[in-house]
Amino acid sequence: MNDKDIATPKRTKALLDQYGFKFKKSLGQNFLIDTNIIQNIISASDIDENTGVIEVGPGMGSLTEQLARSAKKVLAFEIDQRLIPVLEDTLSPYSNVQVVNEDILKANVKEEIDKHLQDCDKIMLVANLPYYITTPILMNLLENNLPIDGYVVMMQKEVGERLNAQVGSKSYGSLSIACQYYTETERVLVVPKTVFMPPPNVDSIVIKLTKRKEPIVVVDDEKLFFKLTRGAFQQRRKTILNNYISTIIEGKMHKEEILEWLTTSNIDPKRRGETLTIQEYAQLCNNLKKYPNLSV
Ligand code: SAM
Repeated sequence: MNDKDIATPKRTKALLDQYGFKFKKSLGQNFLIDTNIIQNIISASDIDENTGVIEVGPGMGSLTEQLARSAKKVLAFEIDQRLIPVLEDTLSPYSNVQVVNEDILKANVKEEIDKHLQDCDKIMLVANLPYYITTPILMNLLENNLPIDGYVVMMQKEVGERLNAQVGSKSYGSLSIACQYYTETERVLVVPKTVFMPPPNVDSIVIKLTKRKEPIVVVDDEKLFFKLTRGAFQQRRKTILNNYISTIIEGKMHKEEILEWLTTSNIDPKRRGETLTIQEYAQLCNNLKKYPNLSV
């Protein structure tokens, strides 16, 4: 760490003035101005000189420069074209950083990994995510089966608690199931609003997701599994039976079969979605093939 680090209020303000940069709320631009938080993120990421890092939204490079100091290579996707000249300037001391001016939701991430990180032993995704699209970013990356070994990501506290939630808790839902299906989730630290410029409206959390060698349960059809887990939480207060009557095509007509499918899967139809474990959802998914009239 030194005075010139980007993640300090003084240097960040100087860069904003130099480039006449105005934050765009619509792009979730809250820049980190605390080097201690960044150090915590880096140490949770287990980065070494053979690690390739993907960053989503480098902003002015506050986290990127610290990643560049520890990793072999950094591949950063930034949507805002106005930040590209700023990054060219702030990251000029680091020859191991590649900035791609693209929307992470539209970019061909696999192709960029093959192009820039193929000689790295391990790939981690480390980011202070734009909060308005945390869920689609994570779901896209996880579902696309990319060669990413783990994620250390900052997000809105409430969303982070959902990723990490256990069955039966208020935050447990289809996002918890999707993340825990692919990864082991762990809370790293809670971050106050004051370490950002401008401060966001909510507190933040850093979560670590470590990719499992195999998903936690065996399902015959992943797409169906995720449709069923989403369907179970359509309306949290409703029973699993009622949620599935609305998820399944012409569910009302097939109520008896839905009941039979639930009971033969050992699920009481009066239970609510939040009480079912991932294993129980897998059971439901794999048992559905016995009921060809039921489709989602
Ligand atoms: N990493 C910087 C930091 O911590 O100071 C900035 C983090 S800021 C919370 C989120 C960044 O993501 C912004 O730079 C924003 O422009 C960028 N961003 C927003 N939407 C994006 C998208 N769809 N694809 C790539 N970058 C995006």
